[in-house]
Amino acid sequence: MSLDATNQFESVSTPWLTPVFAQLLETYQAGRLAHGVLFTGSAGIGKFKLAKNIAQYLLCSSKQADGACRQCHSCKLFLAHNHLDFHLLENETDKSIGIEQVRSLIATLNERPHLGDNKVVIIKNAQLLTIPAANALLKTLEEPQGNSYLILLARTHHQLMPTLLSRVQQTHLHTPEDSQLLAWLAELGFFVEDKGLLRLFQNSPLALLNHLQSVQQASAIDERRNCVEGLFSVLNQPETLFTFSQFLAESAEQRLQLLFHLLHDLHKLKLSESVMNKDAVYSFALPQLQIWQSQITLKSLRYLSSELLQTRKLLVDHSGLKKELLINALLIKIKNEFKEIAVC
Ligand SMILES: [Zn+2]
Repeated sequence: MSLDATNQFESVSTPWLTPVFAQLLETYQAGRLAHGVLFTGSAGIGKFKLAKNIAQYLLCSSKQADGACRQCHSCKLFLAHNHLDFHLLENETDKSIGIEQVRSLIATLNERPHLGDNKVVIIKNAQLLTIPAANALLKTLEEPQGNSYLILLARTHHQLMPTLLSRVQQTHLHTPEDSQLLAWLAELGFFVEDKGLLRLFQNSPLALLNHLQSVQQASAIDERRNCVEGLFSVLNQPETLFTFSQFLAESAEQRLQLLFHLLHDLHKLKLSESVMNKDAVYSFALPQLQIWQSQITLKSLRYLSSELLQTRKLLVDHSGLKKELLINALLIKIKNEFKEIAVC
C-alpha cells in the first residue's frame, strides 16, 4: 500500500507542516494565492495531507484565521469525503495520467460550484501527466474558470514540464531536522536512538512512522540486522547463500533496497570514515562495515551496486521471474568480489 494512497495519517499531528499551512493561508488572505499551486517534497512528508487541509479551507464557508471552521456544511461534507466541489485525480504509481482524464476534469471545473464559491482539484503524482494532458491543463491555468484551484503534487519540480512549472506557485516541503523528527516520534511513542533509521527514510516523517508502526505490528526485528547477518554468513559460510536469497526474495523490492544501502554505506566508508556516523543507514554495524570495506575495492562496490539495482528493477518490472534464482546469482557476484581481494 502506498503511503499517499491511505488516510491512515489523517489524525496524526504534523507540526512540520504547520508553518507552511500558515504561510499559504496568509498568501490566500492577501489575495495572492495562484489558481495553480504545486507542492513538492519527498514521499511521506505529507504533501497530500497539506493539500487536503488547503482544499478544505478553500471550500469552507466560514473561514477562520487559522484554517477551515470544521463545522459548516461544506466542511462536514469534505470531512465525509463527499464534497461535490472537490476532485481528486490519482493514478496508480507509474500509470500515466492521460488527456481524457484531464479533459473530464476540466469539464467539471467549468461547471458552477455546487456549494460555495470555490472548486478544488488535487492531482497526485503530477509527474505522471502525459505531455498532451499537461498541455490541456496549461490552458486551464492560463484562463482559470471562476474560482477553481488546482493543487499539483510531485516529489520534485524537475519531474514536471517547464511550461507547467511557470504557471504554478510552488511550495517545497522540507524534511524536519533530526531533533524535531525524534521529538515528534517520541510523542507518538517511538523512541528512536539510531539516526541511521532516519537516513533510511530520508527524514520523511510519515514514511518513518509507517515503518515503525508496521515493525511494531509484525513484532519483526529490524531488517537491517538481517541484512548484515545475511551478508556475513554468505561471505563466511557459502552454504547459507540460498537461505539468504530466499529471505531477500520474500520481500525483494524492500530488502534489496536495504542491501543496496549496505553497499552504499561501505562505499561512503571507503571514501571517508568521518561521513559514516552522520549519514549512514548502518551506523549500528560500524565495526563489521570497517572490516568489509578493507576487503573490497571501490570499483567492485560500484559494480555490485549497479548489478543489485538491475536485479531489483528486473524483479519489480517482471513479477513472473524466479526471484530466488536471480537473487542467488547476485549474491554469488557479491561473494566473489569480496573473495578476490581477500585472496590478493
Ligand atoms: Zn467550514
